[in-house]
Amino acid sequence: MTATAPVTPDMLTIPRKDTGGGLPNLVGMTRDAMRDALIAAGTPEKQAKMRVGQIWQWIYHWGVRDFEQMTNLAKDYRAMLAETFVVAVPEVVTRQVSEDGTRKYLVRIAGGHEVEIVYIPETDRGTLCVSSQVGCTLTCSFCHTGTQKLVRNLTAAEIIGQVMVARDDLGEWPEPGTRTEADRTRLLSNIVLMGMGEPLYNFESVRDAMKIAMDPHGIQLSRRRITLSTSGVVPEIARTAEEIGCQLAISFHATTDEVRDKLVPINKRWPLADLLDALRSYPKVSNSERITFEYVMLDGVNDSDEDAHRLVKLIDGIPAKINLIPFNEWPGAPYKRSSNNRIRKFADIVHNAGYSSPVRRPRGEDIMAACGQLKSETERGRKSKAQIAAETGT
Ligand code: SAH
Ligand code: SF4
Repeated sequence: MTATAPVTPDMLTIPRKDTGGGLPNLVGMTRDAMRDALIAAGTPEKQAKMRVGQIWQWIYHWGVRDFEQMTNLAKDYRAMLAETFVVAVPEVVTRQVSEDGTRKYLVRIAGGHEVEIVYIPETDRGTLCVSSQVGCTLTCSFCHTGTQKLVRNLTAAEIIGQVMVARDDLGEWPEPGTRTEADRTRLLSNIVLMGMGEPLYNFESVRDAMKIAMDPHGIQLSRRRITLSTSGVVPEIARTAEEIGCQLAISFHATTDEVRDKLVPINKRWPLADLLDALRSYPKVSNSERITFEYVMLDGVNDSDEDAHRLVKLIDGIPAKINLIPFNEWPGAPYKRSSNNRIRKFADIVHNAGYSSPVRRPRGEDIMAACGQLKSETERGRKSKAQIAAETGT
């Protein structure tokens, strides 16, 4: 558990299998943290770096969770590790497979909380949509997760653990004696931080987990294949470039402050002008190719020709692609999806201005796995009107 995860009373009854009876979890530790932990457990300082390298490779390259199988470590050392640490990932509670092949996993984490992970297979890639928080403190009015209270931040272990359980299910740990496949031939080749939660409100854990995903001696995903999506936490954007260096997606969704204030209330704190300023320097600092502007198509709200023209003007000069997302409905949602004709016209305007403007095909709708539909059934607490007002300053 990290400092960002406050201990709540229900965490005191964590079942043993989730936590290894309270032993520290090696999963989610940075290399430095693992080294310190091994030294504290009696590993001679001179050997610690090498031991980290060996254990790291077992956990993140081979997918091994049982210390007994770490056969290049001495028997006594394996026994010491087993008494002192665990290698634990979230527990898969349910697994659903959509007609289109999309997989949705509901996993349980410490405290009995649940989060969802979505795997989206495509012809040239397989993308895992990872959650960063249980619920979300923000209240974007079109987002199902936004109606759910924030329960807590996920730890780095719980974030990288989502990647590990998906690799388990896809059978994608390499066979002994083989090498890790090149990114493009992998089933899980891309990660998007677009599940539940605002990743930049859980910066350190997200950063540590993504560093593990990119580490060349483990899961080995290129930083170009990892995309972090934010609703616009402006002060953390430069840090994302400097400390993670992954690709960036912005939940843009509107072209005036008036409309964006309603759709993405964090806009009241950091309005469009501030957000665009922060974005202008991102690609230079992170070497990222282009910023993805996500734009949800809401009937009669943000989908006019004027909006499309304003959008291309606003982002002028930023290397960008615009991802149009047909609104995914959820029970009680206050919006409707724009018609296909409207979306096509909007896309044409953006395209004619020189931007790539793919329309995202909704995936996994039959299992409520599409963007913005995630919400854990166990977290029934809904935000009260007063709470929403307090958070959004309305
Ligand atoms: N909190 C982060 C990441 C999670 S949301 C963020 O807001 O960027 C992932 C994407 O799905 C965001 O672009 C979000 O705006 C979009 N989204 C949320 N609800 C949606 C819905 N009902 N239909 C379509 N897209 C939605
Ligand atoms: Fe939170 Fe993102 Fe949903 Fe907004 S769109 S409520 S930031 S998860």
